Amino acid sequence: MAKFLFIVCLLFILLFILAGCVSEHVDFYEPEIEIEIPNEIPDTNDWEEIVFPLRRERGILEVYVFGLSSADSILITTENYVVMIDTGERQHGHDIVEALFSRGIFHIDHLIITHFDRDHVGGAYDIIRFLGVRNIIVPNYHRESNSANRFREAKHRVGIEAYVLTDTISFVLDDATFEIVPSGLAFFIFGNEEDDADETDEDIFIPRENDFSILVNVTHGNNSFLFTGDAMAGRLGEFLEQDEISQVDFLKLPHHGRHNRRTVEFLNAIKPRYAVSTCCHERPIDQRVVAVLENFGTEIFLSIHGGVSARSDGYVLVVSQ
Ligand SMILES: [Zn+2]
Repeated sequence: MAKFLFIVCLLFILLFILAGCVSEHVDFYEPEIEIEIPNEIPDTNDWEEIVFPLRRERGILEVYVFGLSSADSILITTENYVVMIDTGERQHGHDIVEALFSRGIFHIDHLIITHFDRDHVGGAYDIIRFLGVRNIIVPNYHRESNSANRFREAKHRVGIEAYVLTDTISFVLDDATFEIVPSGLAFFIFGNEEDDADETDEDIFIPRENDFSILVNVTHGNNSFLFTGDAMAGRLGEFLEQDEISQVDFLKLPHHGRHNRRTVEFLNAIKPRYAVSTCCHERPIDQRVVAVLENFGTEIFLSIHGGVSARSDGYVLVVSQ
């Protein structure tokens, strides 16, 4: 009998420990961090107003890809929540903060940094300092650079820790489901991120830092959205290994619309209805990417022409620029 009681007690203790582990893993969201919101942000010389429409209504999901040329920053809003994917370059931080203030947005619930390149994390310094950011999600690697260091400094100044993504997590905000997917690649090398390096033979392929980009899936009723950071061939290869790949309605093209040896296969698998390329005059969207998309009748938007707005009511998806 004593032995039986001992085993029962042991089981309870184990259950208690396991429950603790699970809740610790899931509980990455810190809803009540008090951050002082300034009345105004500092003046900036190169200020340009960023205009974006916003209808924070019940049942409406809005996506806005800022028109930042070759840098990424994407705002996703539901009736009650605000999510941002990437923050543009350093000089974009002020503009994004000002634009959000002008739309009555003072908090970001989830800030996702896909990877630590300066055209993705550069604006984070101002965004974290001036907006109340409740949760920051980052990929699982360390980077030393001016932008990454400033990002860490801003976190330190407002006293917030980033959630390091090691496994896929998902959460529901109003009626939208978010799935945040880390790379499972074992390692990568820093350095040259040019396409040439991405088109080497598969046997000697080594993932680049861009291949550690976090991917974000959003589902809102019948409409699906995929945001791919700067995914290159390694990351797209990982994506293509999934058992089931669904068609995607709205795609933020990987790596500013560049081409690599998995691009065609990737686009064929998801056949987006709308695709946005965050690209610039110096290196516009690759014509091979355009050709594949035109085959499906995909409507292509280039951020060089301004911000791109998508509005979903769960049934109809309207994308405009
Ligand atoms: Zn980039």
